[in-house]
Amino acid sequence: MYILLMGPPGAGKGTQAEKLVAEFQIPHISTGDMFRAAVKNGTELGKEAKKYMDAGGLVPDAVTIGIVRERLAQADCSKGFILDGFPRTEEQAVALDGILQDLDIKLTGVVNIGVPDSELVSRVTGRRICKVCGATYHIVYNPSKVEGICDKCGGVLYQRDDDKEETVKKRLEAYHDQTAPLIDYYKKQGVFIDIAGMQDINKVYSDLLAAIKK
Ligand code: ADP
Ligand code: ADP
Ligand code: ZN
Repeated sequence: MYILLMGPPGAGKGTQAEKLVAEFQIPHISTGDMFRAAVKNGTELGKEAKKYMDAGGLVPDAVTIGIVRERLAQADCSKGFILDGFPRTEEQAVALDGILQDLDIKLTGVVNIGVPDSELVSRVTGRRICKVCGATYHIVYNPSKVEGICDKCGGVLYQRDDDKEETVKKRLEAYHDQTAPLIDYYKKQGVFIDIAGMQDINKVYSDLLAAIKK
């Protein structure tokens, strides 16, 4: 199963990916997670990416395409993957077509999780992530049992640097300008699936499962 998860920042891509990973045991490939890991490790890639992430803009295509090409070629991706947050520009989408062709992989579905902007700001600013296992929570919509502590592993929860209101607005602009046009790109390929994201997490997941099983 080769799934691509699309949607604006805060739509629920990471949350749904966590569930898919648990059910299907295929890797979750999130370019945002890869960039955050690079920032944390202080690598050259991290230093470069951080400038764009802090400003709420997109990391340049050449850099982003390079890390995805390398990752998808690894053995654990051959049986399936969940690609989350890539592609985000038309150049990335065209590059992905080439990468998949080289690997002889056809996408099972491109899932778009739709949520209106008015809801996204509160979703993103209330997001908290486990430092240890990466699980995602929300202070109101999906709180951990003990405040600030991960239910799954006991790790400390933190807020991403770019999950502040001003940055979120910039990220939404980047989404509408550069990423939303990809919906038409994938509709033309006949693999597009639209899922209503304004429902509780489990209902979004059951809709998603039903759609990809078809
Ligand atoms: P969200 O989950 O809120 O959509 P991500 O974790 O996917 O955010 O991405 C965080 C940041 O990482 C983005 O704002 C952008 O700066 C950078 N980034 C992630 N994926 C890409 C990509 N495919 N192309 C360019 N930049 C990206
Ligand atoms: P993305 O990866 O698309 O940026 P996340 O999965 O990180 O989005 O979700 C953003 C925030 O919204 C998180 O705090 C998450 O717990 C919460 N969230 C995710 N899905 C829903 C939902 N269906 N209803 C309410 N809150 C949600
Ligand atoms: Zn955890």
